[in-house]
Amino acid sequence: TDIKELLLSRIRDVADYPEPGVMFKDITPLLADPAAFTALTDALAEIAENAGATKIVGLEARGFILGAPVAVRAGLGFIPVRKAGKLPGATLGQAYDLEYGSAEIEVHAEDLVTGDRVLIVDDVLATGGTAEASVQLIRRAGAEVAGLAVLMELGFLGGRTRLEPALSGAPLEAL
Ligand code: 5GP
Repeated sequence: TDIKELLLSRIRDVADYPEPGVMFKDITPLLADPAAFTALTDALAEIAENAGATKIVGLEARGFILGAPVAVRAGLGFIPVRKAGKLPGATLGQAYDLEYGSAEIEVHAEDLVTGDRVLIVDDVLATGGTAEASVQLIRRAGAEVAGLAVLMELGFLGGRTRLEPALSGAPLEAL
């Protein structure tokens, strides 16, 4: 489709970043192009509306850049899920495994309430580890996951397969 072509044309492949053998998908050219950034924001806001979302959760850090304008566009609140130690208030945390070691994400517990339907937004779905942890975190905070929306899915890493049980029927949309 037209939007897919537009978005793809604004993603830059950077070889051997952040380490040898990795082809990094750099979204900064897309952010710098107002037509592409607006098209992306509108498409994600439509997903939020179709999913019946009441809140947008953005995953640090590029999920903040994409998720915040989506929240404004859709008329919804925005909630940051941050790496551990960055949020000042009372947090809920969720640890998850990385290739080497582990990581933890946090959310302000009081920002999510029972009855909330959350659309999780991020730029890239890779192994799905970050997204899976965020689904668990949101559920533990008492909210429902309305879906997960990303700009790009790296299909060869199997994130979708990994996430399917965690999402339990909620849609995973990759533009
Ligand atoms: P995962 O947990 O799915 O393995 O990794 C996803 C997280 O890492 C996302 O928050 C995403 O921003 C980041 N990430 C992994 N690979 C890439 C990439 O090639 N490009 C960008 N922009 N982000 C990536």
